[in-house]
Amino acid sequence: MINYLPPLSLYIHIPWCLKKCDYCDFNVHKYQKKIDQNNYIKHVILDLRNNLPLILNRNIKTVFIGGGSPGLIKIEIIKKLIKKIKEILKIKNKIEITIEINPNKKEIYKINQFVKAGINRISIGIQTFNKKNMVLIGRNQELKNIMRSVKIVKSTNCKNFNIDIIYGLPNQTIEEAIYDIKKAIKLKPDHISWYQLTVEKNTILYYKKPILPNENVLYKITKLGNKILKNNGFYQYEISSYAKKNKKCKHNLNYWRFGDYLGIGCGAHSKITQSNNKILRIIKNKRPIDFIKGKYINKKYEILKKDKIIEYFMNYFRIYEKVSIKKFSKYTNIKEQDILPKIQKAIKHGYITKNKNNLNTTKKGKLFLNDLLEIFI
Ligand code: SF4
Repeated sequence: MINYLPPLSLYIHIPWCLKKCDYCDFNVHKYQKKIDQNNYIKHVILDLRNNLPLILNRNIKTVFIGGGSPGLIKIEIIKKLIKKIKEILKIKNKIEITIEINPNKKEIYKINQFVKAGINRISIGIQTFNKKNMVLIGRNQELKNIMRSVKIVKSTNCKNFNIDIIYGLPNQTIEEAIYDIKKAIKLKPDHISWYQLTVEKNTILYYKKPILPNENVLYKITKLGNKILKNNGFYQYEISSYAKKNKKCKHNLNYWRFGDYLGIGCGAHSKITQSNNKILRIIKNKRPIDFIKGKYINKKYEILKKDKIIEYFMNYFRIYEKVSIKKFSKYTNIKEQDILPKIQKAIKHGYITKNKNNLNTTKKGKLFLNDLLEIFI
Protein backbone atom coordinates (compact mmCIF):
# COMPACT_ATOMS: atom_id res chain seq x y z
CA MET A 1 0.00 0.00 0.00
CA ILE A 2 1.17 3.50 -0.77
CA ASN A 3 1.41 5.68 2.31
CA TYR A 4 2.27 8.86 0.52
CA LEU A 5 -0.03 10.87 -1.70
CA PRO A 6 1.26 13.75 -3.85
CA PRO A 7 -0.04 17.31 -3.37
CA LEU A 8 -3.45 17.85 -4.95
CA SER A 9 -4.61 20.79 -7.10
CA LEU A 10 -8.03 21.68 -8.48
CA TYR A 11 -8.64 22.77 -12.08
CA ILE A 12 -11.98 24.18 -13.27
CA HIS A 13 -12.63 24.46 -17.01
CA ILE A 14 -14.81 27.16 -18.55
CA PRO A 15 -15.31 26.07 -22.16
CA TRP A 16 -16.28 29.27 -24.00
CA CYS A 17 -14.52 32.09 -25.80
CA LEU A 18 -15.93 35.05 -27.73
CA LYS A 19 -14.13 33.74 -30.81
CA LYS A 20 -11.75 30.84 -31.28
CA CYS A 21 -8.20 32.03 -31.98
CA ASP A 22 -6.70 30.52 -35.14
CA TYR A 23 -3.96 28.64 -33.27
CA CYS A 24 -6.14 27.35 -30.42
CA ASP A 25 -6.58 23.62 -29.92
CA PHE A 26 -8.15 23.80 -26.44
CA ASN A 27 -11.64 22.60 -25.65
CA VAL A 28 -13.33 25.87 -26.51
CA HIS A 29 -16.81 26.60 -27.89
CA LYS A 30 -18.25 29.84 -29.22
CA TYR A 31 -19.81 31.93 -26.49
CA GLN A 32 -23.45 32.90 -27.02
CA LYS A 33 -25.72 35.09 -24.93
CA LYS A 34 -28.25 32.29 -24.48
CA ILE A 35 -25.76 30.11 -22.56
CA ASP A 36 -27.04 29.47 -19.07
CA GLN A 37 -23.90 30.10 -17.02
CA ASN A 38 -25.71 29.32 -13.76
CA ASN A 39 -26.65 25.90 -15.01
CA TYR A 40 -23.12 25.12 -16.18
CA ILE A 41 -21.61 26.10 -12.82
CA LYS A 42 -24.32 24.11 -11.03
CA HIS A 43 -23.09 21.05 -12.95
CA VAL A 44 -19.43 21.90 -12.29
CA ILE A 45 -20.21 21.82 -8.57
CA LEU A 46 -22.11 18.53 -8.96
CA ASP A 47 -19.14 17.13 -10.88
CA LEU A 48 -16.90 18.15 -7.98
CA ARG A 49 -19.20 16.51 -5.43
CA ASN A 50 -19.25 13.28 -7.47
CA ASN A 51 -15.45 13.20 -7.38
CA LEU A 52 -15.15 13.64 -3.62
CA PRO A 53 -14.86 9.87 -2.88
CA LEU A 54 -11.72 9.85 -5.03
CA ILE A 55 -9.92 12.51 -3.01
CA LEU A 56 -11.38 11.77 0.43
CA ASN A 57 -10.31 14.54 2.79
CA ARG A 58 -7.12 15.55 1.04
CA ASN A 59 -6.09 19.20 1.17
CA ILE A 60 -6.26 21.28 -1.99
CA LYS A 61 -3.00 23.16 -2.58
CA THR A 62 -4.02 25.39 -5.52
CA VAL A 63 -7.06 26.28 -7.60
CA PHE A 64 -6.92 27.29 -11.27
CA ILE A 65 -9.96 28.56 -13.17
CA GLY A 66 -8.99 28.26 -16.83
CA GLY A 67 -10.47 27.88 -20.26
CA GLY A 68 -11.64 29.12 -22.62
CA SER A 69 -12.37 32.48 -21.07
CA PRO A 70 -13.42 32.27 -17.40
CA GLY A 71 -13.62 36.07 -17.49
CA LEU A 72 -16.85 35.73 -19.48
CA ILE A 73 -18.64 34.25 -16.47
CA LYS A 74 -20.77 36.69 -14.48
CA ILE A 75 -19.12 37.89 -11.32
CA GLU A 76 -21.89 36.70 -8.99
CA ILE A 77 -21.58 33.21 -10.49
CA ILE A 78 -17.79 33.15 -10.00
CA LYS A 79 -18.32 34.34 -6.41
CA LYS A 80 -20.78 31.51 -5.84
CA LEU A 81 -18.35 29.02 -7.41
CA ILE A 82 -15.45 30.08 -5.19
CA LYS A 83 -17.63 30.08 -2.07
CA LYS A 84 -18.91 26.57 -2.83
CA ILE A 85 -15.45 25.18 -3.62
CA LYS A 86 -14.08 26.54 -0.36
CA GLU A 87 -17.02 25.12 1.55
CA ILE A 88 -16.96 21.66 -0.06
CA LEU A 89 -13.20 21.21 0.02
CA LYS A 90 -12.82 22.91 3.41
CA ILE A 91 -10.23 25.34 2.06
CA LYS A 92 -9.19 27.63 4.87
CA ASN A 93 -5.70 28.87 4.13
CA LYS A 94 -4.94 31.52 1.56
CA ILE A 95 -3.97 29.16 -1.22
CA GLU A 96 -3.12 30.29 -4.74
CA ILE A 97 -6.32 30.82 -6.75
CA THR A 98 -5.73 31.81 -10.38
CA ILE A 99 -8.15 32.97 -13.05
CA GLU A 100 -7.39 33.42 -16.75
CA ILE A 101 -8.50 36.67 -18.36
CA ASN A 102 -8.51 37.78 -21.96
CA PRO A 103 -8.05 41.49 -22.54
CA ASN A 104 -11.47 42.38 -23.98
CA LYS A 105 -14.20 44.72 -22.73
CA LYS A 106 -16.40 41.87 -21.49
CA GLU A 107 -13.75 40.52 -19.13
CA ILE A 108 -11.37 43.21 -17.92
CA TYR A 109 -13.90 45.22 -15.92
CA LYS A 110 -14.58 42.16 -13.75
CA ILE A 111 -10.97 41.86 -12.58
CA ASN A 112 -11.55 44.03 -9.53
CA GLN A 113 -14.53 41.94 -8.46
CA PHE A 114 -12.69 38.67 -9.08
CA VAL A 115 -9.97 39.79 -6.69
CA LYS A 116 -12.58 40.80 -4.11
CA ALA A 117 -14.12 37.33 -4.49
CA GLY A 118 -10.85 35.73 -3.34
CA ILE A 119 -8.86 35.24 -6.54
CA ASN A 120 -5.24 36.13 -5.82
CA ARG A 121 -3.51 35.41 -9.12
CA ILE A 122 -4.57 36.87 -12.48
CA SER A 123 -3.24 35.48 -15.73
CA ILE A 124 -3.75 37.72 -18.75
CA GLY A 125 -3.52 36.14 -22.20
CA ILE A 126 -1.92 38.89 -24.28
CA GLN A 127 0.18 36.77 -26.70
CA THR A 128 1.36 39.74 -28.80
CA PHE A 129 1.25 43.55 -28.77
CA ASN A 130 1.70 43.71 -32.53
CA LYS A 131 -1.57 44.51 -34.34
CA LYS A 132 -0.55 42.82 -37.58
CA ASN A 133 0.38 39.62 -35.72
CA MET A 134 -2.83 39.69 -33.67
CA VAL A 135 -4.72 39.49 -36.97
CA LEU A 136 -2.45 36.76 -38.33
CA ILE A 137 -3.20 34.45 -35.40
CA GLY A 138 -6.87 35.47 -35.14
CA ARG A 139 -6.68 37.17 -31.72
CA ASN A 140 -9.75 39.20 -30.97
CA GLN A 141 -8.25 41.99 -28.88
CA GLU A 142 -7.30 45.66 -28.92
CA LEU A 143 -4.13 47.24 -27.62
CA LYS A 144 -6.05 49.76 -25.51
CA ASN A 145 -7.81 46.93 -23.65
CA ILE A 146 -4.53 45.13 -23.02
CA MET A 147 -3.17 48.27 -21.35
CA ARG A 148 -6.41 48.79 -19.45
CA SER A 149 -6.43 45.22 -18.15
CA VAL A 150 -2.94 45.63 -16.69
CA LYS A 151 -3.86 48.99 -15.17
CA ILE A 152 -6.92 47.44 -13.54
CA VAL A 153 -4.97 44.48 -12.10
CA LYS A 154 -2.47 46.93 -10.63
CA SER A 155 -5.23 48.95 -8.99
CA THR A 156 -6.42 45.87 -7.06
CA ASN A 157 -4.95 44.01 -4.10
CA CYS A 158 -3.78 41.22 -6.39
CA LYS A 159 -0.04 40.88 -5.86
CA ASN A 160 0.54 38.18 -8.41
CA PHE A 161 -0.12 38.57 -12.09
CA ASN A 162 1.05 36.75 -15.16
CA ILE A 163 1.26 37.72 -18.81
CA ASP A 164 1.18 35.09 -21.58
CA ILE A 165 3.21 35.86 -24.70
CA ILE A 166 3.75 33.66 -27.76
CA TYR A 167 6.74 33.87 -30.09
CA GLY A 168 7.49 32.18 -33.39
CA LEU A 169 4.35 33.65 -34.94
CA PRO A 170 3.87 33.46 -38.74
CA ASN A 171 6.56 35.53 -40.46
CA GLN A 172 7.58 37.03 -37.13
CA THR A 173 10.97 38.71 -37.15
CA ILE A 174 13.47 38.61 -34.29
CA GLU A 175 12.79 42.32 -33.67
CA GLU A 176 9.02 41.78 -33.44
CA ALA A 177 9.38 38.89 -30.98
CA ILE A 178 11.82 40.83 -28.83
CA TYR A 179 9.56 43.88 -28.92
CA ASP A 180 6.73 41.74 -27.44
CA ILE A 181 8.85 40.41 -24.60
CA LYS A 182 10.28 43.86 -23.80
CA LYS A 183 6.82 45.38 -23.80
CA ALA A 184 5.56 42.64 -21.47
CA ILE A 185 8.46 43.28 -19.06
CA LYS A 186 7.67 47.01 -19.08
CA LEU A 187 4.22 46.24 -17.68
CA LYS A 188 5.95 44.84 -14.58
CA PRO A 189 4.17 41.50 -14.18
CA ASP A 190 5.29 39.01 -11.52
CA HIS A 191 5.40 36.15 -14.00
CA ILE A 192 5.71 35.76 -17.75
CA SER A 193 4.78 32.63 -19.69
CA TRP A 194 6.69 32.88 -22.95
CA TYR A 195 5.71 30.08 -25.31
CA GLN A 196 6.80 29.10 -28.77
CA LEU A 197 3.86 28.75 -31.15
CA THR A 198 3.08 25.20 -32.18
CA VAL A 199 0.64 24.73 -35.02
CA GLU A 200 -1.61 21.81 -34.12
CA LYS A 201 -3.43 19.87 -36.84
CA ASN A 202 -6.96 20.62 -35.62
CA THR A 203 -6.59 24.41 -35.74
CA ILE A 204 -7.61 27.07 -38.25
CA LEU A 205 -4.00 28.20 -38.49
CA TYR A 206 -2.90 24.76 -39.67
CA TYR A 207 -5.12 25.06 -42.75
CA LYS A 208 -3.78 28.52 -43.50
CA LYS A 209 -0.35 26.90 -43.99
CA PRO A 210 1.57 29.74 -42.28
CA ILE A 211 5.24 30.37 -42.91
CA LEU A 212 6.90 30.13 -39.52
CA PRO A 213 10.30 31.53 -38.51
CA ASN A 214 13.08 29.02 -39.19
CA GLU A 215 15.18 27.24 -36.54
CA ASN A 216 17.91 29.83 -36.76
CA VAL A 217 15.51 32.73 -36.12
CA LEU A 218 13.83 30.83 -33.27
CA TYR A 219 17.19 30.10 -31.69
CA LYS A 220 18.16 33.77 -31.82
CA ILE A 221 14.80 34.85 -30.38
CA THR A 222 15.07 32.47 -27.40
CA LYS A 223 18.69 33.31 -26.74
CA LEU A 224 18.09 37.04 -26.75
CA GLY A 225 14.72 36.83 -24.98
CA ASN A 226 16.14 34.67 -22.19
CA LYS A 227 18.94 37.16 -21.68
CA ILE A 228 16.54 40.10 -21.51
CA LEU A 229 14.22 38.30 -19.10
CA LYS A 230 17.15 37.35 -16.87
CA ASN A 231 18.53 40.89 -16.86
CA ASN A 232 15.13 42.11 -15.75
CA GLY A 233 14.91 39.78 -12.75
CA PHE A 234 12.82 37.00 -14.28
CA TYR A 235 14.09 33.62 -13.22
CA GLN A 236 13.43 30.78 -15.69
CA TYR A 237 12.11 27.79 -13.77
CA GLU A 238 10.48 25.92 -16.64
CA ILE A 239 10.96 25.82 -20.42
CA SER A 240 8.33 28.57 -20.94
CA SER A 241 7.93 30.08 -17.46
CA TYR A 242 9.76 33.03 -15.93
CA ALA A 243 9.04 34.39 -12.47
CA LYS A 244 10.14 37.14 -10.13
CA LYS A 245 11.30 35.96 -6.69
CA ASN A 246 8.69 33.78 -4.93
CA LYS A 247 6.22 34.18 -7.81
CA LYS A 248 6.45 30.79 -9.50
CA CYS A 249 3.06 29.41 -10.44
CA LYS A 250 2.39 26.84 -7.72
CA HIS A 251 -0.46 25.26 -9.68
CA ASN A 252 1.62 24.55 -12.78
CA LEU A 253 4.59 23.43 -10.70
CA ASN A 254 2.45 20.81 -9.01
CA TYR A 255 1.46 19.51 -12.43
CA TRP A 256 5.05 19.38 -13.72
CA ARG A 257 6.21 17.70 -10.52
CA PHE A 258 3.74 14.87 -11.15
CA GLY A 259 1.43 16.07 -8.40
CA ASP A 260 -2.24 15.11 -8.46
CA TYR A 261 -4.96 17.26 -9.96
CA LEU A 262 -8.69 17.04 -10.02
CA GLY A 263 -10.18 18.55 -13.17
CA ILE A 264 -13.82 19.53 -13.17
CA GLY A 265 -15.92 20.93 -15.99
CA CYS A 266 -16.07 20.13 -19.72
CA GLY A 267 -13.09 18.20 -21.06
CA ALA A 268 -11.04 18.59 -17.86
CA HIS A 269 -8.45 15.92 -17.08
CA SER A 270 -7.66 14.48 -13.65
CA LYS A 271 -4.77 12.48 -12.29
CA ILE A 272 -5.53 11.07 -8.90
CA THR A 273 -3.36 8.70 -6.89
CA GLN A 274 -5.33 6.22 -4.83
CA SER A 275 -4.28 4.65 -1.54
CA ASN A 276 -4.04 1.25 -3.30
CA ASN A 277 -1.15 2.54 -5.51
CA LYS A 278 -3.31 2.97 -8.57
CA ILE A 279 -3.14 6.29 -10.41
CA LEU A 280 -6.41 7.13 -12.11
CA ARG A 281 -6.86 9.27 -15.20
CA ILE A 282 -10.32 10.74 -15.64
CA ILE A 283 -11.34 12.73 -18.71
CA LYS A 284 -14.57 14.69 -18.63
CA ASN A 285 -16.97 15.07 -21.55
CA LYS A 286 -15.88 17.82 -23.91
CA ARG A 287 -19.24 19.09 -25.08
CA PRO A 288 -21.13 21.49 -22.81
CA ILE A 289 -24.39 20.05 -24.14
CA ASP A 290 -23.52 16.59 -22.73
CA PHE A 291 -22.02 18.00 -19.57
CA ILE A 292 -25.15 19.91 -18.58
CA LYS A 293 -27.17 16.72 -19.01
CA GLY A 294 -25.10 15.27 -16.18
CA LYS A 295 -22.90 13.14 -18.45
CA TYR A 296 -19.65 14.25 -16.84
CA ILE A 297 -17.23 11.40 -17.40
CA ASN A 298 -15.95 10.46 -20.83
CA LYS A 299 -13.14 8.08 -19.82
CA LYS A 300 -11.73 6.70 -16.59
CA TYR A 301 -8.78 4.31 -16.46
CA GLU A 302 -5.71 3.37 -14.54
CA ILE A 303 -2.45 4.88 -15.82
CA LEU A 304 -0.17 2.04 -16.96
CA LYS A 305 3.39 1.63 -15.69
CA LYS A 306 4.97 2.63 -19.04
CA ASP A 307 2.80 5.76 -19.22
CA LYS A 308 3.64 6.72 -15.64
CA ILE A 309 7.33 6.70 -16.59
CA ILE A 310 6.91 8.86 -19.68
CA GLU A 311 4.45 11.26 -18.02
CA TYR A 312 6.70 11.69 -15.01
CA PHE A 313 9.77 12.57 -17.03
CA MET A 314 7.93 14.47 -19.74
CA ASN A 315 6.79 16.92 -17.10
CA TYR A 316 9.76 16.88 -14.75
CA PHE A 317 12.37 17.46 -17.46
CA ARG A 318 10.57 20.69 -18.42
CA ILE A 319 11.42 22.30 -15.10
CA TYR A 320 14.81 23.52 -13.93
CA GLU A 321 14.99 21.26 -10.89
CA LYS A 322 16.82 18.13 -9.93
CA VAL A 323 14.73 15.01 -10.41
CA SER A 324 14.75 13.05 -7.17
CA ILE A 325 14.90 9.32 -7.88
CA LYS A 326 13.39 8.57 -4.47
CA LYS A 327 10.46 10.84 -5.23
CA PHE A 328 9.99 9.17 -8.61
CA SER A 329 9.56 5.80 -6.86
CA LYS A 330 7.35 7.31 -4.18
CA TYR A 331 4.98 8.96 -6.69
CA THR A 332 4.86 6.15 -9.25
CA ASN A 333 5.51 3.00 -7.18
CA ILE A 334 8.14 2.01 -9.76
CA LYS A 335 11.60 0.88 -8.63
CA GLU A 336 14.77 2.69 -9.72
CA GLN A 337 16.22 -0.47 -11.29
CA ASP A 338 13.22 -0.63 -13.64
CA ILE A 339 14.27 2.62 -15.31
CA LEU A 340 18.03 2.25 -14.92
CA PRO A 341 18.71 1.21 -18.56
CA LYS A 342 16.86 4.33 -19.75
CA ILE A 343 18.79 6.55 -17.33
CA GLN A 344 22.09 5.05 -18.51
CA LYS A 345 21.17 5.62 -22.14
CA ALA A 346 20.28 9.27 -21.46
CA ILE A 347 23.60 9.74 -19.60
CA LYS A 348 25.48 8.20 -22.53
CA HIS A 349 23.93 10.75 -24.89
CA GLY A 350 24.91 13.59 -22.55
CA TYR A 351 21.28 14.57 -21.88
CA ILE A 352 21.37 14.02 -18.11
CA THR A 353 23.80 13.47 -15.25
CA LYS A 354 23.16 11.34 -12.17
CA ASN A 355 24.40 11.26 -8.63
CA LYS A 356 23.23 8.99 -5.80
CA ASN A 357 19.86 10.71 -5.31
CA ASN A 358 19.10 12.88 -8.31
CA LEU A 359 19.01 13.23 -12.06
CA ASN A 360 19.93 16.55 -13.64
CA THR A 361 19.21 17.59 -17.20
CA THR A 362 22.21 19.07 -19.00
CA LYS A 363 22.04 22.03 -21.39
CA LYS A 364 22.05 19.50 -24.22
CA GLY A 365 19.17 17.64 -22.58
CA LYS A 366 17.05 20.80 -22.40
CA LEU A 367 17.93 21.69 -25.99
CA PHE A 368 17.03 18.22 -27.29
CA LEU A 369 14.18 17.58 -24.88
CA ASN A 370 12.19 15.51 -27.38
CA ASP A 371 15.16 13.21 -28.04
CA LEU A 372 15.66 12.83 -24.30
CA LEU A 373 12.01 11.95 -23.81
CA GLU A 374 12.15 9.41 -26.65
CA ILE A 375 14.49 7.40 -24.43
CA PHE A 376 11.89 7.24 -21.67
CA ILE A 377 9.06 6.13 -23.97
S1 SF4 B 1 -8.59 33.05 -25.91
FE1 SF4 B 1 -7.29 31.28 -25.37
S2 SF4 B 1 -8.70 29.61 -25.02
FE2 SF4 B 1 -9.86 31.21 -26.08
S3 SF4 B 1 -9.72 30.66 -28.21
FE3 SF4 B 1 -8.03 32.06 -27.82
S4 SF4 B 1 -6.31 30.72 -27.28
FE4 SF4 B 1 -8.16 29.48 -27.15
